[in-house]
Amino acid sequence: MEFQCIPDALGLNPEQWSLVAGFLGFREEPESRVGYLARMPQERVAVLLPQLVGLGIVRRRETAQGPWYGLIPVEELLAKAALAAEDPDVFEMEANLLRRVVEGFGTPGLTVISSSEDRDPARRIPEITKYADTLMPYIDLRLGTRCNLNCTYCLLGHENRTTRTTAEIVSDLMLGRRRNLQKVALTGGEPTLHPEVLKIITVARTLGYRQVILVTNGVTLSIPGVLDRLVEAGITAVGISFDTPDKEIAHELWQSPVFDKVSLAFDAVARHPQLLLGSIAVITKKNASQLPDLANWWADRNDAMENLFVPNIDFVMPEENAWLNREELLPKLTDVMEPVLKALEIAHGRGLPLTFRGFPLCLLPGLERYSYDRYMSIFRLTSSAEGDVFDKTSVDLLRTKGPQCRRCKLRRECNGVSRGYANLYGYEELVPVRGA
Ligand code: SF4
Repeated sequence: MEFQCIPDALGLNPEQWSLVAGFLGFREEPESRVGYLARMPQERVAVLLPQLVGLGIVRRRETAQGPWYGLIPVEELLAKAALAAEDPDVFEMEANLLRRVVEGFGTPGLTVISSSEDRDPARRIPEITKYADTLMPYIDLRLGTRCNLNCTYCLLGHENRTTRTTAEIVSDLMLGRRRNLQKVALTGGEPTLHPEVLKIITVARTLGYRQVILVTNGVTLSIPGVLDRLVEAGITAVGISFDTPDKEIAHELWQSPVFDKVSLAFDAVARHPQLLLGSIAVITKKNASQLPDLANWWADRNDAMENLFVPNIDFVMPEENAWLNREELLPKLTDVMEPVLKALEIAHGRGLPLTFRGFPLCLLPGLERYSYDRYMSIFRLTSSAEGDVFDKTSVDLLRTKGPQCRRCKLRRECNGVSRGYANLYGYEELVPVRGA
């Protein structure tokens, strides 16, 4: 959901509010770190920080190393906004969400990917619904951040790569079961690098998880016998990252010459037709032009296998590595729509239910049913004194819409653009869709 009442009441323009939203993700930092953490160009931060300090929303603390900046306490912020809030009911709703985000900061919890509430069959594609309903709701369980690749667009960055202990992971699995969740996705980093991945899968199945999804870059699955052992342990679905059929570009994006190995991973999955298969391509400046070829590559695979296969193209999120490499990687949305539309046309024409994520719906008119964002919602599950809290706001804050989106008929089902994208390119490309 998009905050409107509080930014309006504080008199903040979209860019100022975006920096305030960025501050919700950290406590206090020197100016030189604020741009990186808020995903905003440092030169804009230098302009906006004094404005927010002047408005009394951000506080500046002098230290021997220079000034540090942090948001004022949330209740002070809300007290300021309450004075000018136009609609007290909307204000109270937004205030509670903001409190929840601040309280949840740093609190351990689980990420849960749940099915969307919109079940209208006329607004869905049957194969995508079957795929999503088989897998969701699931816990997104990170086994660690260690990886055998260092993709230029990785959302984790490459610092501090760690492996979580099996005890920590099992504790999360037990927490999920206590909340009656029955499906889990093992992610990383690269989850197959966890030394006890087979044991973790077995424990998950013993605890009652009906679906165990492996989200992988595919490199390990190319080793003969590895997938067989994972299937024996209990995995039921596999998601393989695959960005382009162009070997050279793939090696550039993944920073490793592993194209042939990843390709073998698809062959390995085809030998287990009961496995559900997903594949995600991250769209960047480097691989966008090859999307039509990728659609054909995936469709060829689909023709040769019996697995239920739902691939997806994801617009790159300017986070971590992708933020640092944004000049080489992050295209303007309107510059890649032609190959995106072509790829969707090719795939759908060949019976492959290719989906997309991270694109505003106004750029893909008539293709809403293929927006994977419409089939899922991402929540943080934390425990508090009052019981379990399912919170969507901290995830939603990573995305944003323009002021013009208030006039769009698709505004409730569209996730707009990532905040980092809007901080770099603004909202000009978004065109409200008219109608009832
Ligand atoms: S105008 Fe805004 S709400 Fe409407 S589809 Fe585009 S991004 Fe989404």
